[in-house]
Amino acid sequence: MIPFNKPYITGKETDYINEAVALGRLSAGGIFTKKCEHFLEERFGFARCFLTTSCTSALEMAAMIYEFKAGDEIIIPSYTFVSTASSFARAGMTVRFADSLPDHPNIDCSRLEEIITPRTKAIIPVHYGGVSCDMPAIKNLAAKYNLHIIEDAAHSINTPLGHTGEMSCFSFHETKNIHCGEGGMLAINDPSLIERAENIWYKGTNRTAFERGEIPRYEWVLKGSAFAPSEISAAFLYAQLEAIDDIQYKRNFLWKKYYEYLLPLARKGLFLLPEEIGNSHIFYLICHSGNERNKLIKHLSLKGILAVFHYQSLHRSLYGSRFHDGRQLPNAGHFSNCLVRLPLFYELTETGIEYITGSITQFYS
Ligand SMILES: *Cc1c(COP(=O)(O)O)cnc(C)c1O
Repeated sequence: MIPFNKPYITGKETDYINEAVALGRLSAGGIFTKKCEHFLEERFGFARCFLTTSCTSALEMAAMIYEFKAGDEIIIPSYTFVSTASSFARAGMTVRFADSLPDHPNIDCSRLEEIITPRTKAIIPVHYGGVSCDMPAIKNLAAKYNLHIIEDAAHSINTPLGHTGEMSCFSFHETKNIHCGEGGMLAINDPSLIERAENIWYKGTNRTAFERGEIPRYEWVLKGSAFAPSEISAAFLYAQLEAIDDIQYKRNFLWKKYYEYLLPLARKGLFLLPEEIGNSHIFYLICHSGNERNKLIKHLSLKGILAVFHYQSLHRSLYGSRFHDGRQLPNAGHFSNCLVRLPLFYELTETGIEYITGSITQFYS
């Protein structure tokens, strides 16, 4: 059986967790949290990084940092994970759904202007598979209408992405390239937001400044929550970050093998392949119809291969549909119906890819 995902373990995670245990401080903000944050700040050039318990909580933090409130609107692609919407909806915001590009799941910027209203506060682009959205176009709209940009960079660790918005949110969920089971990061580009973020991150208190010795005691200073992960998660994550180049190399190798083996079929017009590698987070095919896609998934499953579809368009979801104004979003619908993700994880081998692509070839012959 080839699983869809197998969370990679470098081997050093438990060493670092044991170290954290021996250090005797397992609550948030300890040595491993700082090590991870410094690593991420230095390697990717963010003004400040905060580890969080998930990308969802990083998005929720972003909503709190801007004090978004009931009636404020955000614009997001309909074709995305629930958290892109729910993190802002829970602040009472109204979600406006945009369509995807015809040939890529990223948001179609050519039709965003028509859904901007005087209440629009932010655009939340999602970089699907670590491939950049049209950030110059989004930046222009943000400047013209005075909007914030908060990037859902859940897929996008180890890319140059996440630097256009004032903030960007990353995921370290076990299905992502670098993980700690459940985890995430809020990366801040606008230094004026750092102090607020720090206090919101730590339960609405200025405890982080207190721990740095800047103030004699800490107190409640604003509305916050418990967004910071424990040192156990941070220790695990640090082992993964140290292996980031190796993990990236292996994923790129596997992605390119898929592409190489499937290109002849794509050239025959049997399905579409992705055009850009991004950070090799996702390898997908786009079938001609939902029916064909479902049959392919079934065929692969009979061969012991777990391929999956994802992202039911949010504008048609049970909860999300209440926000929707009835516009047709055909491209989002197309990806929901026709996209299939193939297994992609560190321990997959070229032999595994030969078997998977061979099974796909068999399906189409
Ligand atoms: C995985 C994912 C999230 C949520 O990440 P968590 O860390 O599980 O909260 C949000 N947005 C997108 C696009 C994702 O793929």
